Amino acid sequence: MPAKMMRAMVLEEFGKPLQLREVPVPEIGDEEALVQVHACGLCGTDLKISGGKLAGIPTPLIMGHEPAGVVVEVGSRVTNVKVGDHVALALYVTCGQCEFCRTGNESLCVNLVGRPGFELNGGFAEYFKVPARNLFRVAPHVPFEQVALLADCIATIWHAVCRRAEVKIGQTVVVVGAGGLGVHAIQLLKLAGARVIAVDVAEDKLEFARQWGADVTIHSRQEDVVSRVKELTDGLGAHAVLEFVGLPETIAADLRFLRRGGVLTLVGYAPDKPFTADSADIVLSEKRIVGSRANTKQDLVEVIRLMEEGKIRGAITNRYRLEEVNEALEALRRGEILGRVVVVP
Ligand SMILES: [Zn+2]
Ligand SMILES: [Zn+2]
Repeated sequence: MPAKMMRAMVLEEFGKPLQLREVPVPEIGDEEALVQVHACGLCGTDLKISGGKLAGIPTPLIMGHEPAGVVVEVGSRVTNVKVGDHVALALYVTCGQCEFCRTGNESLCVNLVGRPGFELNGGFAEYFKVPARNLFRVAPHVPFEQVALLADCIATIWHAVCRRAEVKIGQTVVVVGAGGLGVHAIQLLKLAGARVIAVDVAEDKLEFARQWGADVTIHSRQEDVVSRVKELTDGLGAHAVLEFVGLPETIAADLRFLRRGGVLTLVGYAPDKPFTADSADIVLSEKRIVGSRANTKQDLVEVIRLMEEGKIRGAITNRYRLEEVNEALEALRRGEILGRVVVVP
């Protein structure tokens, strides 16, 4: 049996540092499981959550939406996982009943119960609880810090590349923003047989992108991205663009180097910064602009298998202890982090 109390990093006030607190270990219901956290990823979304930029976030809240760990207790009706299983978390705790849930589009659920680390207590703690149906077993040979990257980072990229952009072998794909998500996009795109052009404003990120397999990199402050992409594609433009920045100016450029019939997939977004597009260009060139939100349970299952087989690897560059979460958030805010961050309790 787990201890009665645990350490947790708690968001008590938006815009203020998280507080290290001793709180009760969660008590589980019949369909829930208790997971001992061995690693928990941290990403730009945590800055939005702690900064009060997202609607519907309660306080106090134990943040941490990318946890990985071991099941230590299960409710009486749980059958899909057992004590001792290493697990990844499917982030969206959904109703399971609405049309979007029924058609396998859980991230669009209209009656969302919540997400650990957003609306529900999450993984910046020694333990967290969740409905067991949101837990998926991962082979024990995969390190926990890698498991932590599966659910929010790698499965989200899988969803964007495979389900939304539907990238095919031999296509040229531009990745705009070579940060923590972008480098995983590069990795999956190479696995899918695409040629990858990475675009960023920082040379260290472009170097990182090359290390993770980008075929060509373009420094968008030093080179004209539109003409470079056209040059590299016989004047036609890229088959697909994966946009991780989401600002009006980057989206405007994307549409100019996207080929006729191409698809622009928005993964990053900038709240309150709407973009405009020329409807004539969209119609006459049959360009598609699609959004890609998080991932589904099936996406998670697909990437768990790829990771178990050693075909993908999380690009972790920074590690922090649980009590150092505020330092991690600060480093992220200052743009000092190249890849992904993992917190260990
Ligand atoms: Zn995240
Ligand atoms: Zn639903």
